[in-house]
Amino acid sequence: GTASSGHYIAYCRNNLNNLWYEFDDQSVTEVSESTVQNAEAYVLFYRKSSEEAQKERRRISNLLNIMEPSLLQFYISRQWLNKFKTFAEPGPISNNDFLCIHGGVPPRKAGYIEDLVLMLPQNIWDNLYSRYGGGPAVNHLYICHTCQIEAEKIEKRRKTELEIFIRLNRAFQKEDSPATFYCISMQWFREWESFVKGKDGDPPGPIDNTKIAVTKCGNVMLRQGADSGQISEETWNFLQSIYGGGPEVILRPPVVHVDPDILQAEEKIEVETRSL
Ligand SMILES: [Zn+2]
Repeated sequence: GTASSGHYIAYCRNNLNNLWYEFDDQSVTEVSESTVQNAEAYVLFYRKSSEEAQKERRRISNLLNIMEPSLLQFYISRQWLNKFKTFAEPGPISNNDFLCIHGGVPPRKAGYIEDLVLMLPQNIWDNLYSRYGGGPAVNHLYICHTCQIEAEKIEKRRKTELEIFIRLNRAFQKEDSPATFYCISMQWFREWESFVKGKDGDPPGPIDNTKIAVTKCGNVMLRQGADSGQISEETWNFLQSIYGGGPEVILRPPVVHVDPDILQAEEKIEVETRSL
């Protein structure tokens, strides 16, 4: 293959049995050391060895064997533990990888929290914590109430926005010949769509029509070949009231052929508008 495409395989050494393996997509096979030595490597990864790290690992595993009874249990990030088991310099304990900013478990991680944390007796925690720092110390796991409320609020918002959009768009589709179309950047629209349809992900920023708009003689017009969609004035106002942004790109389709029915309909709208 080339640098941008092709098929690549990897040779990795298992640190536990010191044997080499070939990783080729879904198949893994044991290979000899000479196979690895004669391969044309294009990238090499080394593992930094450290006497000190080895010593620390031995010290902790000895402590684990003592099994000192402890009143308190502490939770530690499995991700950090993996670093501790394999890295020369594991760095500070990173318990924030399973906590929210409020110090609880984020609701979306609650379902697989066992995959993220390991419970340690107090003496082991104290040892690791005093040696590596970081943290924070966690001896109670709970689903964060603040995040839970926040998640419910955003879920409700998603549903409402989607429902209102569908309703407004249905009404727009039924209109025979709308006098105006509002154009919206599809790039922004897709972001909004994935927010309202998705399970997580943040709401998009303000509507950004700058890429689909072009100013001619002081008027904002639709740029030719722009990636844009058409929505009704009501839908535009609805989205704009929530997200802000702009600019407004309005299309007024020219009336080519005036059908008597359409004329009547237009008159009707006018009369109705006046009576308001
Ligand atoms: Zn929280």
